[in-house]
Amino acid sequence: MTILLTTLNARYAHASLGLRYLLANMGDLQEQTQIHEFVIGARSTDVVEKILAYRQPDQKLIVGFGVYIWNVVEITQVVAILKRVAPDVVIVLGGPEVSHETSEQDIIRLADYVITGWGDVSFPALCQQIINGPQPLMKVHAGLQPPMKDIKLPYDLYTDQDIRHRTLYVEASRGCPFKCEFCLSALDKTAWPFEIDAFLQEMESLYQRGARLFKFVDRTFNLNIKTSLKIMQFFLDKLAAAPHDPVFAHFEVVPDHLPDALKEGIQKFPAGTLQFEIGIQSFNPEVQSLISRKQNNDKAAENIRWLCEHSHAHLHVDLIAGLPGETMESFAAGFDKLVALGPHEIQFGILKRLRGTPIIRHTDAYQLAFDPMPPYTILANKDVPFAAMQRLVRFARYWDMVANSGRFANTLPVILGESPFTNFMALSDWVYANTDATHRIALDRLAGLVSNWLQHERGISKETVENLVSSDYAGHAQHKQGSEKSAKAGDKTGSTVKATPQRQSRHLAA
Ligand code: SF4
Repeated sequence: MTILLTTLNARYAHASLGLRYLLANMGDLQEQTQIHEFVIGARSTDVVEKILAYRQPDQKLIVGFGVYIWNVVEITQVVAILKRVAPDVVIVLGGPEVSHETSEQDIIRLADYVITGWGDVSFPALCQQIINGPQPLMKVHAGLQPPMKDIKLPYDLYTDQDIRHRTLYVEASRGCPFKCEFCLSALDKTAWPFEIDAFLQEMESLYQRGARLFKFVDRTFNLNIKTSLKIMQFFLDKLAAAPHDPVFAHFEVVPDHLPDALKEGIQKFPAGTLQFEIGIQSFNPEVQSLISRKQNNDKAAENIRWLCEHSHAHLHVDLIAGLPGETMESFAAGFDKLVALGPHEIQFGILKRLRGTPIIRHTDAYQLAFDPMPPYTILANKDVPFAAMQRLVRFARYWDMVANSGRFANTLPVILGESPFTNFMALSDWVYANTDATHRIALDRLAGLVSNWLQHERGISKETVENLVSSDYAGHAQHKQGSEKSAKAGDKTGSTVKATPQRQSRHLAA
């Protein structure tokens, strides 16, 4: 019997932590278990062909798929083809997308077994049953959640190739104590930490093997401050010992909980070594209360401002459009408030209906209409009709290209003026009207569009606009040259930029 663990990642650079957890916990089945990761966009028939290459003569093949909102459509195709050409292959599904509403999904109808929730111990147990009998009677198995100390950590399964070329996902805890109704973690009700010293030992081995980019998937890094400090100290020690070969760490934090001890630690990180993803989602207290999100808005704003002014952390702050009770006006007010705080990036997301999340309790009262196809994006609600939601979707796309990209650092404040949401929406509507496109707009063309809009719609002189836009290009070129020069000379700035992801480097250079 051969067991293959597989999934389709969103990008090659994303190494699946979930598959590595399964492999680490296979026990005496580990020797016959392998991982093969694919990337979204691969041809389904090619994926099936590669999966079937693992089949040994006269032996059964069990294939475990990690199914997520971003790959469910493609994995459904793969499973459908697999079942046509090799019906004897045993297919086991797991992952958040198949952990809820199991009776309503095509992919589940096609598969042999499904494990909902945690798979660390339940997947190997199910494989044992399939191999040694008695054969499992049920199709859907509720995954058992073992004590955290019983879960084998998977970090030694990151290969040298992963360490060199891919983002390493790590987690010091699972779960979240908060209950935001749009989020799958709302179902956890609490967070479960891994034993911190054992975890840091694994981080040490990764570091010694050359890992420099660590992305924490913990839902709330700053929940237990003692643990957060210990983790931060680990990275600070590395930075102190090897400032010319720095690490880069990414954490998700809740914005209204930043005690002084944590601030002190944060301040010690040099530029280009620390990134925070901060969920604001909405600044509207009525919306927050509707979706059971507890957030002290004043404290959150104060902390974001403090981080911008007193730390070098790169800040990526999330807002969600389309939440029940959020009007265009209240969303605009929240957006403007956030822009004024000055984070490097605003991730402007559109509400999605993740399977299992309690947000659907508002469906009737707020006329929530979601796309029936993944990723189940909201199309309209009582306060934001379809046409207006479309404008928000395009705003989000152009915002990413113009603002978050860091390519228009000098021009952006002029675009936004005193009313960031209104002005950027005007640019967004205009660009769409003139291009009919939200993707594949080359940078030069985008710069031309922005220049035209500033001149013809905002009445700014040609000379001023040309100076502005070209200063962004010049800044980028200078930064590029500077990085190359300093990297060659091996100085501190060049090395820091080398460890820092490209987009963050642009924001640092701005
Ligand atoms: S949105 Fe963040 S804080 Fe809220 S439940 Fe999800 S992970 Fe927890």
